[in-house]
Order: sequence, then C-alpha cells, then structure tokens
Amino acid sequence: MKVDVIVVGGGHAGCEAAAAAARLGVKTLLVTHQQATIGEMSCNPAIGGLGKGHLVREIDALDGLMGRVADKAGIQFRMLNASKGHAVRGLRAQADRKLYRAAMQAALAEQANLEIYQASVENLLRDEQNHEIIGVQTAEGKNLYAGAVVITTGTFLRGLIHIGEKKIPAGRVGEKPSLGLSNSLERIGFQLRRLKTGTPPRLDGRTIDWSGLEKQPGDFPIPAFSYLTTAITTPQIPCYLTATNEATHAIIRENLHRSPMYSGQIEGIGPRYCPSIEDKVVRFADRSRHQIFLEPEGLDDDTVYPNGISTSLPEDVQLALLKTIPGLANAKVIRPGYAIEYDFVDPKELYPWLEAKKMPRLFLAGQINGTTGYEEAAAQGIVAGLNAAYKASGKAPEIFDRSESYIGVMIDDLVTLGTNEPYRMFTSRAEYRLHLRSDNADRRLTGRGIKIGCVGAARQQHYITKMEQLQATQQTLEKMSATPTEWQRLGVGVNADGVKRSVLDVLATSLVDWQQLCKIFPNLAGVPNAIVEQLEIEAKYSGYMKRHETDIRLFRQDEELFLPPLLDFSGIPGLSAELQKKLNQAKPYSVGAASRIPGITPAALTILLKYAYKKPVQQTA
Ligand code: FAD
Repeated sequence: MKVDVIVVGGGHAGCEAAAAAARLGVKTLLVTHQQATIGEMSCNPAIGGLGKGHLVREIDALDGLMGRVADKAGIQFRMLNASKGHAVRGLRAQADRKLYRAAMQAALAEQANLEIYQASVENLLRDEQNHEIIGVQTAEGKNLYAGAVVITTGTFLRGLIHIGEKKIPAGRVGEKPSLGLSNSLERIGFQLRRLKTGTPPRLDGRTIDWSGLEKQPGDFPIPAFSYLTTAITTPQIPCYLTATNEATHAIIRENLHRSPMYSGQIEGIGPRYCPSIEDKVVRFADRSRHQIFLEPEGLDDDTVYPNGISTSLPEDVQLALLKTIPGLANAKVIRPGYAIEYDFVDPKELYPWLEAKKMPRLFLAGQINGTTGYEEAAAQGIVAGLNAAYKASGKAPEIFDRSESYIGVMIDDLVTLGTNEPYRMFTSRAEYRLHLRSDNADRRLTGRGIKIGCVGAARQQHYITKMEQLQATQQTLEKMSATPTEWQRLGVGVNADGVKRSVLDVLATSLVDWQQLCKIFPNLAGVPNAIVEQLEIEAKYSGYMKRHETDIRLFRQDEELFLPPLLDFSGIPGLSAELQKKLNQAKPYSVGAASRIPGITPAALTILLKYAYKKPVQQTA
C-alpha cells in the first residue's frame, strides 16, 4: 500500500497532522493502535488555559480541529485572567471526555483524502541508498509506504507506569507501550531520553460530599474557541473547589520514601509547572493548603478529576490522603493516580518544519518532542502534517516564526534550545505577546493558511467576510471625526487641544466604550460583535503595536538569514571554542535562531552572516 502521508498515532498531534495533510489534498493514512481511542484525553478532559488557549485559537485559524471539537464537547467554559489585558487572557473549557472523542472521530471521518488504519507501527522503513524514510511496518509485518511519515506517539514510547513501588509497562493506563518504534528510532541514530508526567486518582462523584464546597460556574455568555462556532449548545455544568490541608501534607511527608519520584525509581524529569502533590508539598513547604478543582469528566459520567493532586504514591497512601480533604472523606477511588515515564527525542534534531535533520521525510510532533499538553501536541501536529504533505508533493517547507504565532514560539524554542523537562506553553514565552493575542489569531494566520492550502472553503468565506466588514467599519470610524469641543458637547471629555479626533482615536482611549458610542452614533449599532471586539482591542493596543511592528521587522530580517542545518561550527575562524561548542550542539537554522542561544555575542553573529542563505537550506548527513 502506498499513500502520500502516513501519520502514526491518533492522539492530539496525530489527529491534527492527519487532518492538515488531508486538507491539502494529499492521500493520507492515519495508523493508530485503536480506532476507539482516537482523540482520547490521557489526563484531564480540559482544553486551553493560559498560553494553551492561544494555541487552540491558532490551530483553529489554520482550520485545525481542536477548537471546533472542544466547542462541541465543552461543559464549562471560563476565560482565565479575564480581569487582565487581552494579550494574557486564556480560554479554558472542561470537556466531556466521551463527547470530545466522538466529535474528533466524527471530524476525521468527514475529512476527504483521509483513511484510518488500526495497527501498531513497530518499525520505520528506510531507503538505504537515498538515506530517507519510505514508510512503516506494522506489528503484523505489513509494509505501508508513503512520501512522508509523521510520528506522534505521545507517552507510548517505552511507557512505564509507576504507582508506588509497582511498575507497569504501558503507554497510558490499560494500553500497551510502544517498544519496537523506540528501537527503530534508536537504530536510525536518534538518542532517546526520558521524561515523566502524572495524573491524579479518579473519584466517583456520587460519593463526594458536595455540600459546603465552593461552586465554580462557567462564564456567561459562553465564549467559544472556534471562529466558526456561532453558539455553544452542549449543556453546561459547574466545577467545585476544595483544598488539601496540614493533615494531608503530613501523610504525604510520612510516605515520601514510597513515592517513586523520591525513592529514585523514576529517572525522567517531570513537568515543573504541573507538579505532583508530593512535589508541591516538598517544594512549597511553607504552604498550608493547595487548591483542588473537582472537575466532572462528562455529562452522563460520574467520574470526577481532582485537578491539583496528581500523584504516584502507593494506593493506600492515596486513599489515606483523600480522607483528609473536605468533601472527599468518603470518596470512592475509581482508578488510582499514577506517574508515567516515556522516551522522547531531542527536538534539536528537527528543522523548524518538524522534519528530522538526519532522516529526510520523517516528521515528529507532539509529546515525542518533549512537550506536554494536548494543545502543544495539536499545534505541532498541524505544522508537521502540512509540511509532510508539502514534502510528499515536492514543495518547499513552511516555517512559522516567533513574531506571528505561539506555534512559532514553541517550535523555535524546541528546535533551537531543546528541552530538559516537559515543555508547556505560557504567554511569557512570547516576546511579541501584545501582537500574538488569541482574539486576532485569524488575522495573523488564516490568510497564510489560505495561501498554504490548509483552510477549507467554509472558513475561507467566513474569514473574507469578516475582514471586509472589519475594513469597512474601520474606514467608517476613521472618517467620523470631531473637534474636542464637539466631542465634549457629545459628552466625551477629550483634551481641549484643538486636535480633531476620529471615532477610532477616541475608542483607543478609556474615555468611551462601544456601547456609549452607539448611543451617540446610532448608525454604529448594527456592527457585529466580533467586529466591535476586534476594533476595540486593536484601538486600545494601537500605541504599543507601532513600537512592536518595528521590533518585528528587525526580528524577521535575521530570521530570514538561514544557516545550513549541518554546518560544522568548529571550523569557523573567529568563534571561541565555547561558542563553537554551543552552536554545534544547537545547530541553529537561522542567524536569528543563533542569536537566541544564551551566550552568543553580536560579534559571533556577524561572523555567521557569511554562512547565511536567503532560503531555508535542506542538507542531509
Ligand atoms: P498521545 O495523546 O499520547 O497519543 C499518542 C497516540 O499514538 C495514541 O493514539 C496511541 O495509541 C498512538 N500510538 C502510540 N504508539 C503507536 C504505535 N507504535 N503505532 C500506532 N499507534 C501508536 N498534559 C498536560 O498538559 N498536563 C498534565 O498534567 C498531563 N498529565 C498527563 C498524565 C498522564 C498519565 C498522561 C499519559 C499524559 C498526561 N499529559 C498531561 C500529557 C498529554 O496527555 C499529552 O501531552 C498529549 O496527549 C500528547 O498528545 P500526543 O498526540 O503527542 O500523544
């Protein structure tokens, strides 16, 4: 069997990769362990959050699936940081686990050019002569051939679950690990390293005492992820809050020696920003309580996810510590919490379009590249999928840079600096975050997606209509202007400096909002909400954006000076031995990327200019 693109793994990276490749019109095959687990959320059934919500919006802007699927499956939506500026707000949705899986599977089933094949991939097929990947081999020994292969195997590579002293080989609970593929990657020459992540025990909601717990309803009106969603129609339910206390912490401290993280049983490094409860008790020893969000896993499911107490302590300790927590004294554990260790590939082995430097036609995306989180995985999936389709069609790669998207920030961080711990997205990782807002993801990326070819007809039409409305309204607001005296007569206290101001100028100040403007100028009342929101935000940010634009222009100049990926820096005169070593380890893909390696000096960058090209250079060993 021969197709254009094979995607291995039906997780969040795999679904987006397969759908993106198929949207580009190439014949795509998604090979995954089990059709039924496509779109499974291995941990908390929740999408988005700070930084992560931005990624979902960007995936959506490129016509990816995650935003639309989360809108169908979401049972509680909240805009985090709603009291802060738009740049740092993040939409988060608690999802119904089953609905999410079903909506993702339905979206893939509807996608033209995409077939799904249930199998375990054990081996990568190579063309020894051309030194490139030509396909994969399944556990049954069946060879599947393709023009490009995307591997998105998540936590499955040599996955090993830890619950106290118990060790269980698994990709996630109840599913076999992927062993053959790890061996195959090592044979190709990848050095695999270990990371770990964890999950809390799952509780039976019918045994939780909800009385006395703080209720946390979702936002109303309900905000959506996707630009295409007109309304959230799934019923909404609240979450609840409780917390650990000194008694909980005492039990954890007494049993730390039984935690595989502290007994030395786990080698892999865990996510610093998503620590286990034992980690929190040790690292924040002065804290007398840690908050727990009790999050329902579905509308017709009594399972509750206690967010905040991920643990790999033995089951008896998990039961004991739960008894100390308000509301959970009699809670029945459906499944104990656990930690999982798995192999990952150093992402510095990849080009920024996620193709392996040492193995052409092989792309990697998701947790296999050292990230954590569904959104990070999905965002890489879309980039790998569309680039795999391009590779199979003989087209030059598409790079997303730091100045246009969080997707670009994440991939640049990974391929330039690598990671020693599970990488997750934060708004603080982006230097141009006033520009990279979640509200304008479509303005930043949908036009580009249309040029790439990964945006379907419905979204193209939606985007074009929105941009036309935006432009027309903007022009109207610019034309409607008045002197300070006239503005003051209308009840808007602008400075009496004699300078005429347009409605857009006034909107940029905090003197007036859209509602007030509509009262003054009733002809503005019919402008759609999405357009108003965009104009208001852009007006408020306009002063900062001018400065940002200059920075972004300068950034792009360096970014477009590409370095040969396998350039041997040790031979370059004028570079100190230390810098040569750093550059050889990182193998930056551009002068801009080199500038982000800690310790690289302006003088070193000037030397590198001699080796720079105007187009990405593809070079193999
Ligand atoms: P996955 O979602 O793991 O999907 C991998 C897919 O590949 C699966 O469909 C699998 O069946 C398939 N597959 C694997 N090997 C093969 C093969 N050889 N052949 C065919 N198919 C194969 N993230 C957070 O952000 N915060 C957390 O607290 C958190 N905790 C977690 C706790 C646990 C226990 C686990 C398992 C994960 C946790 N995660 C957490 C991580 C989150 O689940 C992942 O980041 C995300 O699912 C990664 O997506 P992915 O697409 O890369 O891989």
